[in-house]
Amino acid sequence: MLKIKNLHVSIDSKEIIKGINLTINAGELHAIMGRNGSGKSTLAHVISGKEGYEITGDIFFNGESILGKTPEDRALAGIFMSFQYPVVIPGVNNAYFLKAALNARRRAKGEAELDAMDFLTLIKEKIKLVEMDESYLSRAVNDGFSGGEKKRNEILQLLTLEPTFAILDETDSGLDIDALKIIANGVNEYRNGDRAILAITHYQRLLDYMKPDVVHAMMDGKIVKTGGMELARELEEKGYSWLVD
Ligand code: ADP
Ligand code: MG
Repeated sequence: MLKIKNLHVSIDSKEIIKGINLTINAGELHAIMGRNGSGKSTLAHVISGKEGYEITGDIFFNGESILGKTPEDRALAGIFMSFQYPVVIPGVNNAYFLKAALNARRRAKGEAELDAMDFLTLIKEKIKLVEMDESYLSRAVNDGFSGGEKKRNEILQLLTLEPTFAILDETDSGLDIDALKIIANGVNEYRNGDRAILAITHYQRLLDYMKPDVVHAMMDGKIVKTGGMELARELEEKGYSWLVD
């Protein structure tokens, strides 16, 4: 589903991603762990289409290079990103935002748009999965939401939009155990054999609930080790310095 080939990314001539190769197949959940500043969010941003980077190498989504595409086109094609720092959009109603995004995606897939009634039925079902009160739908996107509520709202977006490929950038950061379980349950609800996930995290605990197929350790802009769940445990236990050698 996603193929990254020899990706190098610089900002203002400073190289941040230093040659990443990565293949993620449908049905797989890959986790990336790594110290702060190792380039994890930059990788997530580059896949989802943020501008302002000098890029060499290529990224293929379902066999097609996406580097020339806008973030909007990538989203319409089925790429979704949950932000490490979710954006507050004052004045934009959460439910309208979700409805507009969902209907844009449905149009792109050649499906009929949902009307207000059908959307309401759908969203009330989805919001239960993240254990949020329906009142959050009538508030502005993330406006005045606590850290944990913002992260749940990101997962609500994931469950509503049902993208093909989801990047979760530290969606577990700063959550208490109950919230962590809700997030993991939401992600597991989303998962199926036709979809894939790239989950960036610092904590093994989220991975205990989500059971990744592959775990990558990232350091200084490179994937320096790849393994399974045992690698996540090792990283949490020993930190990252042992990888230097
Ligand atoms: P991580 O998510 O692994 O913590 P980031 O991808 O956020 O790492 O950052 C990697 C490095 O790139 C950091 O040193 C950071 O300061 C730098 N960086 C990220 N974005 C910018 C930017 N817009 N301008 C300059 N440096 C940046
Ligand atoms: Mg980051």
